[in-house]
Amino acid sequence: MIATGKPATGAAHRSRIAIVGAGVAGLVAARLLGRKYDVRLFDANDRAGGHSHTVMVNVAGGEYRVDTGFIVCNNRNYPLFLNLLEELKVGLVPAEMSFSVSNPALGLEYNGHNLNTLFAQRRNLWRGAFGLMLYDILRFNRIARRYNGGGTVGEFIARQGFGDWFAENYLLPMTAAIWSCEPRQASEFPMGLLAGFFANHGLLDLFNRPRWYSIAGGSRSYVAALCRDLGDRIELERPVRGVSRLATGVRLRFDQGSADFDQIVLACHSDEALAMLESPDPAETEILGAIPYRTNAVTLHQDASLMPDQRRAWASWNFRAGDESGNQGPAVTYCMNILQRLKAPQPLLVSLNAADRIAAETVLGEYRYSHPQFSERALAAQARRGEISGVERIHYCGAWCYHGFHEDAVRSAVDICRRLGVAP
Ligand SMILES: Cc1cc2nc3c(=O)[nH]c(=O)nc-3n(C[C@H](O)[C@H](O)[C@H](O)COP(=O)(O)OP(=O)(O)OC[C@H]3O[C@@H](n4cnc5c(N)ncnc54)[C@H](O)[C@@H]3O)c2cc1C
Repeated sequence: MIATGKPATGAAHRSRIAIVGAGVAGLVAARLLGRKYDVRLFDANDRAGGHSHTVMVNVAGGEYRVDTGFIVCNNRNYPLFLNLLEELKVGLVPAEMSFSVSNPALGLEYNGHNLNTLFAQRRNLWRGAFGLMLYDILRFNRIARRYNGGGTVGEFIARQGFGDWFAENYLLPMTAAIWSCEPRQASEFPMGLLAGFFANHGLLDLFNRPRWYSIAGGSRSYVAALCRDLGDRIELERPVRGVSRLATGVRLRFDQGSADFDQIVLACHSDEALAMLESPDPAETEILGAIPYRTNAVTLHQDASLMPDQRRAWASWNFRAGDESGNQGPAVTYCMNILQRLKAPQPLLVSLNAADRIAAETVLGEYRYSHPQFSERALAAQARRGEISGVERIHYCGAWCYHGFHEDAVRSAVDICRRLGVAP
């Protein structure tokens, strides 16, 4: 189908807005802008949702809906997303948020959930290095709360004299798990962003932490509700290959044909948006080019060797350090039985960048998702989004505009909608 950009005969002209990307940012933009404008939402994929991707699996005679991308939100940091779920009448399921580290080279395993799991290996009780790590965690919590400087996480660790165990078995694994990157990259992460995020999400507090939830029925529940409301205004398997500015509008180029609109919202990743622009101006090249994405291989599987050896140490998020030989890199594994409260009798696990160490016969599915890579340069570029978004009829949104999470994607879409005169 090729849209023409002309209003139907006899219909009052409503400004036409194209939205590219049906992840949560694009879906929210389409829902809100659709109240005032004639919207059309395009996605390259054969399903809507982007990183919200629930898959159905059959194990041991039962059927389970497993989230392989976006999984959890909380009652403190997701106000816009939770309002949306309420409007859509989509329910939540309480989730346990716990974090384990296994470091085979050190013979170390712990799960920070409670004292019993922290000392899952009873010998941690009298291990000096473990005690020092706990002391460093408390010291870090105190210092990070007041942190307002620049620099990277690695520089901060060195400057403050934190120990290797704290760096390698706590802060870098936790950062790597939260932002889906490798510990090596985590040390390059901007310390200001990390300190702010840890403080806002209660990660520096022993008590008074936010309550976490997964989505009842998996994230596909809310995606389906949004799609139902949008109806035939969504076109799937419709990759946009190019975007160019016209004197009074914008032109979208598809594999076959093109369509003209009054304005466009690019609700895809920063690098994808830049690649789509046929003549980006220098500010667009600079800003979008400064926030790269990195692709992670995600495997849904049942190989428990990625989890801590001791069952007591199993957490919802599990970090396993690489081996000493360097043959196996570090891996992050989400235990979906714990996170989504799935009652499956066998483990349902989602691991990042660990495909080479997962027993092939346990694999239930493989996916690729890209994450924004934050650096000081990227943060400086983010702060300049206003220089390009909404300028000459092209608007930008997506999780990359803030911290990279679901609420960030929603918030960035709401920013645009407010600018275009639609409040959530
Ligand atoms: C494994 C994993 C776990 C996560 N867990 C959490 C979590 O628990 N909590 C949390 O808050 N966040 C989590 N996140 C992050 C969060 O899910 C994302 O930040 C958010 O969903 C991104 O939404 P988005 O709309 O910006 O982008 P996406 O969801 O990536 O959507 C972008 C869309 O644009 C489309 N597109 C791209 N190019 C084109 C084109 N040329 N033409 C048409 N369409 C195009 C894509 O097909 C895609 O559908 C997780 C992410 C991953 C990958």
